[in-house]
Amino acid sequence: MTLTPALENDLKAAIRTIPDYPKPGIMFRDITTLLGNPRAFRRAVDELVQPWAGSKIDKIAGIEARGFIIGGAIAHQLSAGFVPIRKKGKLPHKSVRIAYSLEYGIDEMEMHEDAVAKGERVILVDDLIATGGTAEGAVKLLRQMGAEVVAAVFMVDLPELGGAQKLRDMNVPVRTLVAFEGH
Ligand code: AMP
Repeated sequence: MTLTPALENDLKAAIRTIPDYPKPGIMFRDITTLLGNPRAFRRAVDELVQPWAGSKIDKIAGIEARGFIIGGAIAHQLSAGFVPIRKKGKLPHKSVRIAYSLEYGIDEMEMHEDAVAKGERVILVDDLIATGGTAEGAVKLLRQMGAEVVAAVFMVDLPELGGAQKLRDMNVPVRTLVAFEGH
């Protein structure tokens, strides 16, 4: 289920790196170039869901904002529904909220309280996992609503920051496509 080195290299080459954005010392992994490449976008979506092709997935939960783009494509692919997890104050209906840790300080994210039903099988999606604070918050929110978090999938892993391991320690299977060193 691991990618061939050739495919991993192709996908990696499709991602643009912007040094010192949004602040000095951060290497920003910009997936918009991958999304703009028809072949790379399709391959990445296919590879992310490959372990769950043919299994029953009720909902894909995408984290604002890049998780919406990838999550929408994955939901279509798996014939699943889509659930947006958003920054606080953006959703129109009654929502549940959780605080999560950022590099400096905390923020809050929300989901509609009726977006997932108890026992539904959900895959969480975002473009990249770094410290895992964002994804950890989303997993907690989904579990709070009774969802079964079947997996969390990301195009990019920054393994040195430990986020994927943090999710595995919460018993969430994690799938990522390419890894970059550092922050
Ligand atoms: P974290 O909560 O630390 O795992 O951060 C993950 C979130 O921050 C994701 O939604 C990413 O889009 C964004 N992010 C963090 N670090 C980077 C980076 N180096 N390049 C691009 N996006 C990043």
